[in-house]
Amino acid sequence: MSHMQYDTLISARWIITVEQDGEVLENHAIAIKDGRIAQILPSAQCASLQAAERIDLGNHVLMPGLINLHGHSAMTLLRGLADDKALMDWLNNHIWPAEGKHVRDDFVFDGASLAMAEMIRGGTTTINDMYFYHAAMARAGVASGMRTFVGCSILEFPTNYGSNADEYISKGMEERKAFLGEELITFTLAPHAPYTVSDSTFRQVVELAEREDMLIHCHIHETADEVAGSVTEHQQRPLARLAKLGLLSPRLIAAHMVHLDSAEIEAAARHGISIAHNPASNMKLASGIAPVPALLAAGVNVGIGTDGAASNNKLDMLAETRLAALLAKVGTLDPTAVPAATAIRMATLNGAKALGIADKVGSVKVGKQADLIAIDLSALETAPAFDPVSHVVYAAGREQVSHVWVKGRALLTQRQLTTLDETALKTRGEEWRNRILAR
Ligand SMILES: [Zn+2]
Repeated sequence: MSHMQYDTLISARWIITVEQDGEVLENHAIAIKDGRIAQILPSAQCASLQAAERIDLGNHVLMPGLINLHGHSAMTLLRGLADDKALMDWLNNHIWPAEGKHVRDDFVFDGASLAMAEMIRGGTTTINDMYFYHAAMARAGVASGMRTFVGCSILEFPTNYGSNADEYISKGMEERKAFLGEELITFTLAPHAPYTVSDSTFRQVVELAEREDMLIHCHIHETADEVAGSVTEHQQRPLARLAKLGLLSPRLIAAHMVHLDSAEIEAAARHGISIAHNPASNMKLASGIAPVPALLAAGVNVGIGTDGAASNNKLDMLAETRLAALLAKVGTLDPTAVPAATAIRMATLNGAKALGIADKVGSVKVGKQADLIAIDLSALETAPAFDPVSHVVYAAGREQVSHVWVKGRALLTQRQLTTLDETALKTRGEEWRNRILAR
């Protein structure tokens, strides 16, 4: 091993591995070779190692990149356009009309690129997205270098992108073909929600997912109204209907899952589904508090997502992780609910499990790909630092994220984006603002 030439050697005061909840290595280094974590060793033993690049980070935390398990990246271009509305009013009277006027290929590319820049600067290395114009989303992913899951939205009603469920599916599958060779780009099937997708379409999605070995990403049990509407229309709650249609399996990433009874929590565990918890969006749209502690206790894999910038309005996974820990406490009136180490696992390894990539990323482990971030805890705002796990969740802000790597490639160095042009992105954002205001 001594004559091995590493690509990058990063040393830091702390490494949060996420291999065990709360495990912290002090004064250790990570050696990266060919995009993988080749060695984890005490910094004191690094002097003799050969590396093309050495990064000595000092009072930083090195940890797995954050995995945003539910988002609509291109909606950055609608950020702040309509706030303080109920979900269906917000969708029907504000978001869907604006999308109808403006969403097309370049909207998605520009909006997703802006989102990715924001996410990278906040320590997010993987995005599980759901939107339209998938080739544009995938191109933005390739250009940014982020690990990108492109969810092909499926609805029964027309949008700019498609006219019916069959067309959404066939166009999505067609756009997927060009990206099958891209290691960091994965297409998923994203039936929008139980209230926008028919039984026959859900059945078709399940068949296709099995045939093509794809994940399914769907909004489920987001609001009490959704559940009540299903009881009126289908004489059953959405999850029961989806169970009968075969949707509940380890392939499923269910976004939200706010309104659940104990039998539904048990069903989620039994079927091995994963859940994307979106605390800020649930709070902002007053959807409710997801029963995360009960889901975790039942053995359900729960990750964390930001949802779109129109309903959050930040794509800030550190803030979202803090909210997940806090909302669990206020929801149960139990200050021990979702401790900091659990919140970090949700934002990293649990997200990776949901996406079927826990063997590749989600923790700091020899052999895994180097999707890593560094957070600078030397700032005044995080002094003194007793426990880096606590600070990352409760005290640090995304402006303290100094470095981001995906598969060993630096996407952020000393707060500077390496793959995306910050000034150009802001200019494009302003151009879209003027276009949207002009109608
Ligand atoms: Zn959503």
